[in-house]
Amino acid sequence: HVIDNVYFKELLEDFKLSTQRNDLTIDNQVYGSEVMLRIDKFHFNTALLNILENAVKYGKEKTHIVLKTELRNGTYHISIMDNGIGISEKNKQHLFDKFYRVSDGNVHDVKGLGLGLYYTHQIIKAHNGTIIVESELNKGTTFNIKIPVN
Ligand code: ATP
Ligand code: MG
Repeated sequence: HVIDNVYFKELLEDFKLSTQRNDLTIDNQVYGSEVMLRIDKFHFNTALLNILENAVKYGKEKTHIVLKTELRNGTYHISIMDNGIGISEKNKQHLFDKFYRVSDGNVHDVKGLGLGLYYTHQIIKAHNGTIIVESELNKGTTFNIKIPVN
Protein backbone atom coordinates (compact mmCIF):
# COMPACT_ATOMS: atom_id res chain seq x y z
CA HIS A 1 0.00 0.00 0.00
CA VAL A 2 0.98 3.57 -0.64
CA ILE A 3 -0.03 6.26 1.81
CA ASP A 4 0.12 10.02 2.11
CA ASN A 5 -0.78 12.59 4.74
CA VAL A 6 -4.51 11.85 4.43
CA TYR A 7 -3.69 8.50 6.01
CA PHE A 8 -2.62 10.16 9.25
CA LYS A 9 -5.73 12.33 9.42
CA GLU A 10 -7.94 9.27 9.09
CA LEU A 11 -5.87 7.30 11.58
CA LEU A 12 -6.16 10.03 14.21
CA GLU A 13 -9.88 10.51 13.61
CA ASP A 14 -10.52 6.77 14.00
CA PHE A 15 -8.37 6.66 17.12
CA LYS A 16 -10.13 9.62 18.70
CA LEU A 17 -13.54 8.07 18.10
CA SER A 18 -12.45 4.68 19.43
CA THR A 19 -11.06 6.07 22.70
CA GLN A 20 -14.38 7.73 23.61
CA ARG A 21 -12.46 10.27 25.65
CA ASN A 22 -13.52 13.86 25.23
CA ASP A 23 -10.67 15.19 27.36
CA LEU A 24 -8.17 13.86 24.81
CA THR A 25 -6.51 16.45 22.59
CA ILE A 26 -4.36 15.67 19.58
CA ASP A 27 -2.07 18.11 17.83
CA ASN A 28 -1.76 16.90 14.25
CA GLN A 29 1.42 18.30 12.71
CA VAL A 30 1.62 16.06 9.70
CA TYR A 31 3.93 16.99 6.86
CA GLY A 32 1.66 18.35 4.18
CA SER A 33 3.12 17.44 0.80
CA GLU A 34 2.42 14.61 -1.61
CA VAL A 35 5.09 12.36 -0.06
CA MET A 36 4.24 8.72 -0.45
CA LEU A 37 5.26 5.82 1.74
CA ARG A 38 5.12 2.17 0.79
CA ILE A 39 3.62 0.34 3.72
CA ASP A 40 1.54 -2.63 4.73
CA LYS A 41 -1.41 -0.51 5.75
CA PHE A 42 -3.09 -2.90 8.18
CA HIS A 43 0.02 -3.71 10.18
CA PHE A 44 1.41 -0.17 10.04
CA ASN A 45 -1.92 1.21 11.31
CA THR A 46 -1.91 -1.22 14.21
CA ALA A 47 1.70 -0.40 15.03
CA LEU A 48 0.90 3.31 15.34
CA LEU A 49 -2.40 2.67 17.14
CA ASN A 50 -0.53 0.68 19.82
CA ILE A 51 1.55 3.76 20.57
CA LEU A 52 -1.49 6.05 20.56
CA GLU A 53 -3.42 3.67 22.84
CA ASN A 54 -0.53 3.58 25.30
CA ALA A 55 -0.54 7.38 25.41
CA VAL A 56 -4.10 7.19 26.75
CA LYS A 57 -3.55 4.13 28.97
CA TYR A 58 -0.47 5.57 30.64
CA GLY A 59 -1.65 9.14 30.63
CA LYS A 60 -2.48 11.49 33.44
CA GLU A 61 -5.69 13.53 33.85
CA LYS A 62 -5.71 15.21 30.46
CA THR A 63 -3.95 13.39 27.68
CA HIS A 64 -2.37 15.53 25.01
CA ILE A 65 -0.72 13.86 22.02
CA VAL A 66 1.44 15.56 19.42
CA LEU A 67 1.94 13.70 16.16
CA LYS A 68 4.58 15.09 13.83
CA THR A 69 5.86 13.88 10.52
CA GLU A 70 8.68 15.20 8.44
CA LEU A 71 10.63 14.19 5.35
CA ARG A 72 14.36 14.57 5.83
CA ASN A 73 17.24 13.03 3.84
CA GLY A 74 15.08 10.44 2.13
CA THR A 75 13.65 9.32 5.44
CA TYR A 76 10.16 9.74 6.76
CA HIS A 77 10.17 10.69 10.44
CA ILE A 78 7.11 10.09 12.58
CA SER A 79 7.09 11.24 16.17
CA ILE A 80 4.34 10.63 18.70
CA MET A 81 4.65 12.56 21.93
CA ASP A 82 2.49 12.25 25.05
CA ASN A 83 2.30 14.02 28.40
CA GLY A 84 1.77 10.84 30.42
CA ILE A 85 3.45 9.19 33.38
CA GLY A 86 6.74 8.60 31.54
CA ILE A 87 9.15 5.69 31.76
CA SER A 88 12.28 5.53 33.87
CA GLU A 89 15.69 5.07 32.26
CA LYS A 90 15.92 1.56 33.73
CA ASN A 91 12.51 0.41 32.46
CA LYS A 92 13.02 1.96 29.04
CA GLN A 93 15.58 -0.69 28.13
CA HIS A 94 13.01 -3.49 28.06
CA LEU A 95 10.15 -1.60 26.45
CA PHE A 96 10.15 -3.49 23.13
CA ASP A 97 10.59 -6.93 24.74
CA LYS A 98 7.84 -9.52 24.42
CA PHE A 99 5.45 -9.47 27.43
CA TYR A 100 7.34 -6.63 29.13
CA ARG A 101 5.30 -4.34 31.36
CA VAL A 102 6.52 -1.77 33.87
CA SER A 103 5.70 -3.27 37.25
CA ASP A 104 5.96 -0.24 39.51
CA GLY A 105 4.19 3.07 40.09
CA ASN A 106 0.85 4.06 38.56
CA VAL A 107 0.92 1.30 35.98
CA HIS A 108 -0.18 -1.43 38.39
CA ASP A 109 -3.93 -1.11 37.76
CA VAL A 110 -3.71 -0.84 34.00
CA LYS A 111 -4.39 -4.09 32.14
CA GLY A 112 -2.34 -5.33 29.21
CA LEU A 113 -0.22 -8.17 27.91
CA GLY A 114 2.97 -6.29 27.20
CA LEU A 115 2.73 -7.15 23.52
CA GLY A 116 1.77 -3.82 21.97
CA LEU A 117 5.23 -2.32 21.66
CA TYR A 118 6.83 -5.67 20.85
CA TYR A 119 4.51 -5.91 17.85
CA THR A 120 5.08 -2.28 16.89
CA HIS A 121 8.85 -2.78 16.94
CA GLN A 122 8.58 -5.89 14.73
CA ILE A 123 6.39 -4.09 12.21
CA ILE A 124 8.65 -1.04 11.99
CA LYS A 125 11.66 -3.33 11.48
CA ALA A 126 9.76 -5.15 8.72
CA HIS A 127 9.47 -1.77 6.95
CA ASN A 128 13.27 -1.33 7.25
CA GLY A 129 12.60 1.34 9.83
CA THR A 130 13.77 2.14 13.33
CA ILE A 131 11.94 3.14 16.48
CA ILE A 132 13.42 4.73 19.57
CA VAL A 133 11.88 6.05 22.76
CA GLU A 134 12.67 9.16 24.74
CA SER A 135 11.01 9.62 28.08
CA GLU A 136 11.10 11.53 31.30
CA LEU A 137 9.35 10.17 34.36
CA ASN A 138 6.19 12.17 35.22
CA LYS A 139 6.63 14.36 32.13
CA GLY A 140 5.92 12.21 29.13
CA THR A 141 7.15 9.95 26.39
CA THR A 142 8.08 10.36 22.74
CA PHE A 143 8.38 7.60 20.18
CA ASN A 144 10.51 8.45 17.14
CA ILE A 145 10.05 6.31 14.05
CA LYS A 146 12.12 6.52 10.86
CA ILE A 147 11.07 4.82 7.64
CA PRO A 148 13.13 4.98 4.44
CA VAL A 149 11.15 6.41 1.50
CA ASN A 150 11.22 4.18 -1.55
P1 ATP B 1 -0.75 -4.39 25.45
O1 ATP B 1 -0.29 -3.26 24.58
O2 ATP B 1 -0.23 -5.71 25.00
O3 ATP B 1 -2.21 -4.38 25.70
P2 ATP B 1 0.86 -3.03 27.41
O4 ATP B 1 0.28 -1.69 27.07
O5 ATP B 1 1.18 -3.28 28.84
O6 ATP B 1 -0.10 -4.19 26.91
P3 ATP B 1 3.06 -2.36 25.65
O7 ATP B 1 2.19 -1.52 24.82
O8 ATP B 1 4.04 -3.23 24.95
O9 ATP B 1 2.20 -3.32 26.60
O10 ATP B 1 3.85 -1.43 26.66
C1 ATP B 1 4.78 -2.02 27.56
C2 ATP B 1 4.84 -1.24 28.85
O11 ATP B 1 5.50 0.00 28.61
C3 ATP B 1 3.49 -0.86 29.45
O12 ATP B 1 3.01 -1.88 30.28
C4 ATP B 1 3.83 0.41 30.21
O13 ATP B 1 4.36 0.06 31.46
C5 ATP B 1 4.95 1.03 29.39
N1 ATP B 1 4.49 2.10 28.48
C6 ATP B 1 4.19 1.94 27.17
N2 ATP B 1 3.85 3.10 26.59
C7 ATP B 1 3.93 4.04 27.57
C8 ATP B 1 3.70 5.45 27.60
N3 ATP B 1 3.31 6.13 26.51
N4 ATP B 1 3.90 6.08 28.79
C9 ATP B 1 4.29 5.41 29.89
N5 ATP B 1 4.53 4.08 29.92
C10 ATP B 1 4.35 3.39 28.77
MG1 MG C 1 0.03 -1.23 24.95
